[in-house]
Amino acid sequence: MSLSEDIKDFGLDLGYSKVGITTADSFPTYIAELNSRRDMYRWYIESNFQPITGANPKSIMPSAKSIIAVVYDASKEAFPEKLVGKIGRLYQARCYLTPRDRINGARRQLMREFLERNGCNVAQRLVVPERLSAARAGVVTYGKNTFAFADGIGSFILMTAFVVNVELDYDKPTLEEKCPPNCTACIDACPTGALYEPLKMDPRRCIAFNTFMAQDNYPGGVTSYIPPDIREKMGTWIHGCDICQEVCPRNQKRLKAKLPQNEFLIKVAQDFELTKLLNLSDEFYAKRVQPLMYNYIRDKKYFQRNAAIALGNTGDPAFIPDLAQAMQDPEELVRGYAAWALGKIGGSQARQVLEASLARETAQSARKEIEVALAAD
Ligand code: SF4
Ligand code: SF4
Repeated sequence: MSLSEDIKDFGLDLGYSKVGITTADSFPTYIAELNSRRDMYRWYIESNFQPITGANPKSIMPSAKSIIAVVYDASKEAFPEKLVGKIGRLYQARCYLTPRDRINGARRQLMREFLERNGCNVAQRLVVPERLSAARAGVVTYGKNTFAFADGIGSFILMTAFVVNVELDYDKPTLEEKCPPNCTACIDACPTGALYEPLKMDPRRCIAFNTFMAQDNYPGGVTSYIPPDIREKMGTWIHGCDICQEVCPRNQKRLKAKLPQNEFLIKVAQDFELTKLLNLSDEFYAKRVQPLMYNYIRDKKYFQRNAAIALGNTGDPAFIPDLAQAMQDPEELVRGYAAWALGKIGGSQARQVLEASLARETAQSARKEIEVALAAD
């Protein structure tokens, strides 16, 4: 058996659903696309991921010859109903930035060690375009919603790419969009207009981006501020957004399938309440939030902000006491967004809380949010 076959067998045995191999040649169309939309992607281009450099793997690793693209099926098991509409389904796989002592971090590490044992030098910290690598390695195609789809699975997948210095057998690329010709369901369903044409998304308008990338001290001018017109459309999403994948006919088979339950997720979901995220204790954060979402969100105050927006969008006065408590939170970000939520819910009880808060508020950003909320009521 060839090394290429050995690698594929090992990857499948580890639990990846697809393994494909492509060359380590550069990705010129990707580089051109990022450069042509610098205003939308400045936060990414200027980030530590260095995507433009990574799209030319040999510029970082001159000996690079091959990219091994693996696909992990993140929808093998049922997603607890309580988390639907709040957390993107991909996070059920706990795959993003997983530490090595949890299963998905260990799987990546085992793959890397296998490659090294078999004479491959594996690039460290080289971020190649993962969707494009997987399509060039023949294991995914594209959807107009910009997601990659794996045959027999759908788009709830996670892709990882390993760049190695060994020449391997290359798979036939599947660099194509495979949607039904007249389907635009994803574009029509996107609440913010982030999907503005087939295969084009403006991340700054995407709910998912705003839930986890809108943080202070990010590159490219990104801050923790979420514009009010986006907040209104975020519904109850606090991490990710599945709308353009949920409406997709290419995902229906999996979404409607009777899938096995995941006991860990059931346990996490049992007391997963937006109010607990809003007034987030260190214990709940450590026990419930972190194990589910090893992720881009670096500070619990951003979960609290997202929970405040979600509660505001419910319009339910039953949450006013929780929001009143959040108006006493040590973080001005949390107080500001709780004020927005109170303004969204409206009514005399919410107004009383806002007025009492304004009387003691000293932080400029929170004061501004309170004033806007009072003016709108
Ligand atoms: S994830 Fe949500 S906001 Fe982002 S493009 Fe899809 S539907 Fe639109
Ligand atoms: S909703 Fe339709 S157009 Fe959008 S990705 Fe799915 S199949 Fe393609």
